[in-house]
Amino acid sequence: MSHHGQGRGAPIIAGLVLAALLGGCATPASRHPLTPADLGAASRASALEASLARPGVVTFERVRFAQWTAGRGGFIDRKDPRTAAVPKGDEEATIYAYVVDHPRFGRVMIDSGVSAELAGRLNRLMRRAVADLDVRIERTTAQWLDGQTPPRMVFLTHLHFDHVGGLVDLPVTTPVYVGAGEAQERSRVNLVLGRPADAALRGYGPLREWRFEPDPDGRFAGVLDIFGDGSIWAISTPGHSAGSTAYLVNAVDGPKLVVGDAVSTRLGWEQRMPQPVAAAARADAEASAERLRSFAAAHPTVTVFLGHQSRMGQAEAR
Ligand SMILES: [Zn+2]
Repeated sequence: MSHHGQGRGAPIIAGLVLAALLGGCATPASRHPLTPADLGAASRASALEASLARPGVVTFERVRFAQWTAGRGGFIDRKDPRTAAVPKGDEEATIYAYVVDHPRFGRVMIDSGVSAELAGRLNRLMRRAVADLDVRIERTTAQWLDGQTPPRMVFLTHLHFDHVGGLVDLPVTTPVYVGAGEAQERSRVNLVLGRPADAALRGYGPLREWRFEPDPDGRFAGVLDIFGDGSIWAISTPGHSAGSTAYLVNAVDGPKLVVGDAVSTRLGWEQRMPQPVAAAARADAEASAERLRSFAAAHPTVTVFLGHQSRMGQAEAR
């Protein structure tokens, strides 16, 4: 789990610390079967950048599913001196998913929204952790689906519970894609919290792993042209989690950059505050965030969608 705040999440933190002290084997984020993705051609940053100028062919819509409130310490690294000037307080976080309609390849959902059924599949500690977050559901993925075309595929930014939960409400025949290495990331936290991604993925076919290769331009960890037509790109952004993936969508109304939790808050994007991640992942997390920020700064036509908040001045629609 990612967003254990200092306020409401405190009892869970204690549980996690206890688990770490007791030791035991680190467990992977997921034991769900894996297979290499059948989509995505390895490409490079300069090809992605060239695609921004071409007219978009897909539509893009962000959908809000839920909201929670947590202490800032869940989002910025309070042990890092750079965060010292940020006052104590809570952050409002939103769970979003994104719907992309491609004229040839159909509907794609980026992340999955939320399901009212997920809690029943979680272990006791994870259920308590979610309860501590006081997640207020605005609409479930099942409610959103009512009267909608179901997605033909789901592209995940990563496997944390607040991004995979809506899979419970989608047809289990839907192919699900995720960044390479995401499922294999080992942590004792996964042992305690019982791999919520696997609970959400129950009944699904194997997770399809994006086959990233190093970006020859050196600007990203890896870049894939998902359909080979420049409409949707996957960008490897490790750090927040091992396989964190951002998506660039060349929509009819301009390019959209879904960064996932590589940068989840305005504090992270606008004030460059580091997020709380394991020591071993800190350098990757900062590099990924910096690469995304420089890309956006170089391409002002790109609208940026942060993991759990709206950019300043961005309409908080739907
Ligand atoms: Zn996360």
